[in-house]
Amino acid sequence: VIEMGTPDRSVITTCAYCGVGCSFKAELNGDELVRMVPYRHGKANRGHSCVKGRFAYGYAHHSDRILNPMIRDRIDQPWREVSWDEALQFAAQRMRGLQQAYGPKSIGVITSSRCTNEETYLVQKLARAVFGNNNTDTCARVCHSPTGYGLRQTFGTSAGTQDFDSVDKTDVVIVIGANPTDGHPVFASRLKKRLRQGAKLIVIDPRRIDMVRSPHVEAAHHLPLRPGTNVAVVSALAHVIVTENLYDEAFIRSRCDWDGFQDYAAFIADPRHSPEATEMLTGVPAAELRAAARLFATGGNGAIYYGLGVTEHSQGSTTVMGIANLAMLTGNIGREGVGVNPLRGQNNVQGSCDMGSFPHELPGYRHVKLPEVRKIFEEAWGVEIDPEPGLRIPNMLDAAVDGTFKGLYCQGEDILQSDPDTHHVAAGLAAMDCVIVHDLFLNETANYAHVFLPGSTFLEKDGTFTNAERRINRVRRVMAPRNGYADWEITQLLANAMGASWNYTHPAQIMDEIAATTPSFAGVSYELLEREGSVQWPCNDNAPQGTPLMHVDGFVRGKGRFIVTEYVATDEKTGPRFPLLLTTGRILSQYNVGAQTRRTDNVIWHDQDVLEIHPSDAENRGVKDGDWIKLASRSGETTLKAALTDRVSPGVVYTTFHHPDTQANVITTDFSDWATNCPEYKVTAVQVSLSNGP
Ligand code: SF4
Repeated sequence: VIEMGTPDRSVITTCAYCGVGCSFKAELNGDELVRMVPYRHGKANRGHSCVKGRFAYGYAHHSDRILNPMIRDRIDQPWREVSWDEALQFAAQRMRGLQQAYGPKSIGVITSSRCTNEETYLVQKLARAVFGNNNTDTCARVCHSPTGYGLRQTFGTSAGTQDFDSVDKTDVVIVIGANPTDGHPVFASRLKKRLRQGAKLIVIDPRRIDMVRSPHVEAAHHLPLRPGTNVAVVSALAHVIVTENLYDEAFIRSRCDWDGFQDYAAFIADPRHSPEATEMLTGVPAAELRAAARLFATGGNGAIYYGLGVTEHSQGSTTVMGIANLAMLTGNIGREGVGVNPLRGQNNVQGSCDMGSFPHELPGYRHVKLPEVRKIFEEAWGVEIDPEPGLRIPNMLDAAVDGTFKGLYCQGEDILQSDPDTHHVAAGLAAMDCVIVHDLFLNETANYAHVFLPGSTFLEKDGTFTNAERRINRVRRVMAPRNGYADWEITQLLANAMGASWNYTHPAQIMDEIAATTPSFAGVSYELLEREGSVQWPCNDNAPQGTPLMHVDGFVRGKGRFIVTEYVATDEKTGPRFPLLLTTGRILSQYNVGAQTRRTDNVIWHDQDVLEIHPSDAENRGVKDGDWIKLASRSGETTLKAALTDRVSPGVVYTTFHHPDTQANVITTDFSDWATNCPEYKVTAVQVSLSNGP
């Protein structure tokens, strides 16, 4: 740990890592950031933090940061440092030229869940008001887009139902496809505290995560399902609840569509959803499925928390809807201690979705086809908005390979490293005539870029992040942007170089525009955030202080909607060549592809990705603990070290993806969620064999 100097002032801001959204006091000595101290009045963390937010901010001053704009005519040429004005004119002329030559739909934007609400709002506005299309997407495409779809279909809005405080009132918790100890540590501590007080835990995960058994915490049930079978397990739980008459009929009659429930009940009561039939598919013992279902239905307040182990599947949206069905069946919606709670991986996944970053939705989750919605923004922006939904990220790349998509502005997202099927992403990027990368570092995507616009860190700008409980937290400028501009200013400069005349002078004005155009944000302002510290949307005349709990008196869509969730096996099959199933996750100290956490001086970040493999699978292959192994799939292969453990079941292997050398996405398939195209990162058929190393 490196701590320097004695602080003489501090600024309250928000962690830029996970979706817990911890508040910190950034303590400075003059202009030097001395340390980050968890802020005890932060409503999401109440003085707690994890190692990432507390210590992993050194990347802001890392020598890898690019501080000057760069351009090049072709990607096989060296970069040339230029002034901001020259870079922006170069980018604007190229994009305008592509619009004129190939039509307005030939260019688009990708924004990031790492950026502020105000920044993502401006990036989608750039696409819609300046590019003239809806070709805007966000990296939430590859993580929680099924949450957006599934919760909107069932409840009517694309957000978690509870605040974090709610966990203090829960009696029985399902954690499915999430590893809170590593992914959401501050929330995990809170959940463990509740478990130590006597709440019961059901873990649904192929791997024996820490919560299954850790000091003073032991799950009542661990359902170690085969990767890819979430829908079947959730349906088996619902089958038991319906066939044993454990459902909350009064809640369903008053709060849900009763006809829809009857259709669903007839579907789910079918013997193919029984625990016995499900055991064959999933590997989870029928008795455990039955006992877990009974516990959830009868154990008091029941809450469900889930993560990317639910969404990053070919049936990610189906599982989200199955989880919503389970909560409605048991009457576990609309009060403290219950609910459906997606644990968001990145700091502003919720916000980037709220801000209209998807190609079919304007801010506030309103479809772009609706003339009355377009009219609001057309009047505010003084433009006509295309009524046709735009391209998702994978569609942009397909269109680029086909020669119809020519230019991309990519802010804060390394799609070459983060998105599935690396070779296809590279082919799409290479086919474009103008790729503008706006980021902190020369990332992998920048290898295919013509313009590099240096970005600013969260320490260098004002704005807001929205955490997993819909809490809008202020991000405050701690130091001047080392690159010269905050990210929202750079997007504005690019828009104006392309002919717009935006004149925001502070992100507060962008938030005012969001509030004026988006009903769920109507009451949000920087003044309110200063006064309250933070606020949870919806925040408007109906809820001037915000909304900690959703769907209290009725669902946003009116009646809750049960949806039939048929299990369909993934197309990714094991076989003689690839007999094992690979699934992925993260560790506490690292964050996603490690762009920030790896650029820190602290020693705990000097780790490596390893492959967890069951001792019996390792023995069959002559692999010992610490050996180098080759991990091969139908898509590609990589090399890493083996870690023998019974945390994974025989037939399942597991790795993290924090280091670029691991190239996990060379291995993963290009299958994706049927509704949203969210990649199926969590299921890949693989083979493991001994290797001599990289
Ligand atoms: Fe809090 Fe998440 Fe940041 Fe850790 S990474 S300090 S849990 S917001």
